[in-house]
Amino acid sequence: MSELRRDPILGRWNIVATDEPDGPADFEVEAHALGKGKCPFCYGNESMTPPEIYVVRPPGSTANGPGWQLRVVANKFPALQIEGPLERRGLGVFDLCTGVGAHEVIIETPDHQRQMADLSPEEFQAVITAFKVRSLDLRGDRRLKYALLFKNFGLSAGASLEHSHSQLIALPIVPKRVQEELKGAERYMEFRDRCPYCDMVAQELREGERVVCENRAFIAFCPFMSSFPFEVWVLPKAHSADFGKMTPEGIGDFSRLLKETLVRMRAALSDPAYNFLIHTAPIEAHEREEYHWHLELMPKLTKMAGFEWGTGFYINPTPPELAANVLRDAPFHG
Ligand SMILES: [Zn+2]
Ligand SMILES: [Zn+2]
Ligand SMILES: [Zn+2]
Repeated sequence: MSELRRDPILGRWNIVATDEPDGPADFEVEAHALGKGKCPFCYGNESMTPPEIYVVRPPGSTANGPGWQLRVVANKFPALQIEGPLERRGLGVFDLCTGVGAHEVIIETPDHQRQMADLSPEEFQAVITAFKVRSLDLRGDRRLKYALLFKNFGLSAGASLEHSHSQLIALPIVPKRVQEELKGAERYMEFRDRCPYCDMVAQELREGERVVCENRAFIAFCPFMSSFPFEVWVLPKAHSADFGKMTPEGIGDFSRLLKETLVRMRAALSDPAYNFLIHTAPIEAHEREEYHWHLELMPKLTKMAGFEWGTGFYINPTPPELAANVLRDAPFHG
């Protein structure tokens, strides 16, 4: 029989197939199709993007010209725009709000052929540092309430360009999913006086069977109630609500563990498309300590279908215990 497993924070249930679980060979992984035409993220094509907001480049090289290691630019086709007033109003039973926000692209490397998992430790740290610098900078804008860092890799995960990049969208509201996690964490804390994420980290370290990898400050594991096959969470072991408070050493530890997780996932699952996102405390609440920031990584192996849309339950064909075992066994060399 399959198992229903409950998320202790969101309170929702998932169905985990424990009888005839799907292993890596049961999923079809599509090739990452090569785009045609000039890539706006390659050297020499800098004029195809909006100007640099943040850049890592050697002294002496010209802004918005080649020679850089990493660039952050505004998205050319933004979901939200920074210019203009924030206006909210009602329309009968509906509420609406002007599309004010920020939408930035972090171009992780000038090399078109390399994925995030191929970056050197220094390059990887530069990406995470850019995540931090950009999200801290946007906190200065009083209109913005939440900054979400995320990555879409591969066509089926929603990437429109194959050149390695991540994105940052800052919103004028705190998204519902984050509010649900905050409320769930608060509810758990009221009963037990402890953070549910800290409790989960402690349990995973104790039991070990769902751990993918760990180092002194971070842990990567497949959560007990995983919604998706081979879903992995990466968390700081010590309680911390705010991604923006990470020290340079913390960034180093986080970078190494996330890179290891991506390398293991690529090897175990034949280079799947994936999404990851970073959940951190909302901008106005970043000094409050009720939350525990984390990264959620989901390879794109299944599709949402009627049952998922209709119930909010997910059917996960791969138990997290099996997924973690497969990822632990995948080859990884420093
Ligand atoms: Zn390119
Ligand atoms: Zn915690
Ligand atoms: Zn989350």
